[in-house]
Amino acid sequence: MNVYLDNNATTAMNEEVLEAMLPYYKEIYGNASSKFYEVGRVAENAVMEIRERVAKELGAKTNEIYFTASGCEADNWAIKGIAFANKSKGNHIITSKIEHHAVLGACEFLEKNGFSVTYLSVDKDGKISLEELENAITDKTILVSVMTANNEIGTIEPIKEIAKICKAHKVPFHTDAVQAIGHMPINVEELGVDMLSLSAHKFHGPKGVGVLYIRNGIRIENLIHGGGQERGKRAATENIAGMAGLCKALEIANTDLGKKTEKMEKVRDRLISGIYERIPYCRLNGPSDETRLCNNVNFSFKYIEGESILMLLDMHGIAASSGSACASGSLDPSHVLLAIGLPHEIAHGSVRFSVSEDTTCEEVDYVLEVLPKIIERLRLMSPLYEEILKGEKEEK
Ligand SMILES: *Cc1c(COP(=O)(O)O)cnc(C)c1O
Repeated sequence: MNVYLDNNATTAMNEEVLEAMLPYYKEIYGNASSKFYEVGRVAENAVMEIRERVAKELGAKTNEIYFTASGCEADNWAIKGIAFANKSKGNHIITSKIEHHAVLGACEFLEKNGFSVTYLSVDKDGKISLEELENAITDKTILVSVMTANNEIGTIEPIKEIAKICKAHKVPFHTDAVQAIGHMPINVEELGVDMLSLSAHKFHGPKGVGVLYIRNGIRIENLIHGGGQERGKRAATENIAGMAGLCKALEIANTDLGKKTEKMEKVRDRLISGIYERIPYCRLNGPSDETRLCNNVNFSFKYIEGESILMLLDMHGIAASSGSACASGSLDPSHVLLAIGLPHEIAHGSVRFSVSEDTTCEEVDYVLEVLPKIIERLRLMSPLYEEILKGEKEEK
């Protein structure tokens, strides 16, 4: 049995999404900037229509939607673009310790270039403190960036409340909503955010296309200079197929969203309670209430390594992840798990399982059959675990 439980890393593309993209790889090959002939105009009209539809899905205005080549690009643009456009006002940026590396990397780059960054701490569930945020704002603060939902431990941050604080202090607020789309309703007006990033491949769309929503009136510098595309704010010949795919995937994601999230929650909770019932010495990372992303499960299994678990899961056809895919390859424990206070050795034994609306109870039950045996087998090879068992015997 093959079970894909790494939907926070990427998702399988929807068949209908592919169908929506194909015409732009075939007959509608025109450059959307070429208006003097038919195939160019058709392309231009397609871009206009797609932008309108994406705006509608997000509750934004059409001219507030900017296409990018990824979620990482949208995050980088929001942060560097605001920093460069507002240098004369101030040099202070506030973000959190558990952001995606796209946000953290952009902030670290700015720190090397004269900006100062406050990294908000989080509590044991991964939530930032609104009080700490408000206290961190100074008259030099030009940007707050806090993610809507965390990709590793599934924490949903209090975005509306953060937006209110930022508005009161007249500081622009960016949120990385890459993990939120398809997992909760996202409307930029209801949230009150000024900028929002998303990426198509996290909600059954194609890889290599994202959106940065930028509220009208926000001053932002270009990240990519050149031609006049995206109203002069982001040069590059439009990736119309990608845009069409993102648009279709977003419309599908938002259709019957409540039903889908309910289904994902059920499957998620079956996995969580199944693991607790069958495996000793483990802990769920991230919240256990309604502020947990409907599709995320993250467990630490004491006395063993996450990577070894993944290898054995893979031998049984199960795909999961330890920390975030972008970070794997490095042996440092996840910055998110350290930020919620896990000691290094426990953070190292962590595995993330992320379901999709297509994940079935049968698949979860298969994981629940295989996983306890894998954990037991690895622990029996662990000197640490041996000592624990010895200690227990001596106590008795
Ligand atoms: C995946 C992800 C990104 C990066 O998106 P890409 O399109 O893969 O560059 C950014 N932020 C979060 C929270 C993510 O999960």
